[in-house]
Amino acid sequence: MKAYTVIKSLLTSCGLFPVCLLLACTEPPQAQAELVLGTICRINLYEYGSPQLYGTLFSRLREIEMTMSITMADTAVAKINQNAGIRPVPVPLDLMEVLDQALAYAALSEGAFDPTVGPLVQRWAIGSEHPRVPEAAEIEEALSLINWQDVVIDRDAATVFLRRSGMALDLGAIAKGYAADEIAKILQRARVTGAIIDLGGNIVAYGAKQRGLPWSIGIQNPLDSRGTYLGIFAIQHKSIVTSGVYERYAEIEGKRYHHILSTQDGYPVYNGLLSVTIIADRSIDADALSTTAFALGYEKGRALVESVDHAEALFIFEDKRIQGTPGALAQFTLRDTQFRLIP
Ligand code: ADP
Ligand code: MG
Repeated sequence: MKAYTVIKSLLTSCGLFPVCLLLACTEPPQAQAELVLGTICRINLYEYGSPQLYGTLFSRLREIEMTMSITMADTAVAKINQNAGIRPVPVPLDLMEVLDQALAYAALSEGAFDPTVGPLVQRWAIGSEHPRVPEAAEIEEALSLINWQDVVIDRDAATVFLRRSGMALDLGAIAKGYAADEIAKILQRARVTGAIIDLGGNIVAYGAKQRGLPWSIGIQNPLDSRGTYLGIFAIQHKSIVTSGVYERYAEIEGKRYHHILSTQDGYPVYNGLLSVTIIADRSIDADALSTTAFALGYEKGRALVESVDHAEALFIFEDKRIQGTPGALAQFTLRDTQFRLIP
């Protein structure tokens, strides 16, 4: 794919945006964006920006990408996958931490969220240049290779091992959340008091805006063109992440297939939901929970979010209903009256 096409398609891959961008006002010159972690990562430090600090932030993002990407050849995750069923692979602490969290969400969701979903993701290849609907036998084979309980972590040796040959990790549902938290940590050390970290729609509304005002974050209307938002969250010092059917999908023979896959039947999850937005203190939780709650569906997804401290959820349904936890609704203003808020 040409670089231009990549950037264009990536630019359309996020569902949350600082509202200033939506209203087409010119972006403050302090913002910087780079193609990292398979998406456009944009950080706006407002008056705190310096080339040096931006340099530190984007190198940190590249460092995380060099560990967790599945498309780059020599990352720790790629090595773990190449050595599945063969031998344990030494991994950096970053990856240990992300895997710990990923396995915790896998346990909480009884495998609806599963970081070993790799074989299935590879066969569908949604979001790549060659997406396809796999044969039933391929789906069966992929499903047989998915099981988070076959990830062996040896903490003392700092190694990770996938028990069976053909297994593969895919951290696409959680790595950007971790990366956003790491950026926020650097900002804290640099005593920045307000910034927007936007890693392909995985947002941290860091600190507060000037004069202590909350940030306004628009929520994509999943049924409309990119950049059309149906409502706004006013938040500060929180992460906000959406998983939705419109984020990454492929149209094959007139049917739309999106990128959150069921570890039960091996197909994209169809459960009446269009998107799930999570607001949480940590971005790694918001990222993992948005995918998990989407995969679990409304009832179980909501129950899971309510069991996690400091996490709130907004669910948007195909029939244009919107439901959410009280904490989410309290911070949300609906703008598009075609949708109905159900308390
Ligand atoms: P985005 O990548 O658009 O931010 P998500 O955070 O919801 O969206 O992550 C979706 C990605 O997670 C998919 O592209 C795939 O790599 C991976 N994935 C798909 N299904 C699952 C699943 N059931 N459990 C864990 N990861 C998944
Ligand atoms: Mg996610």
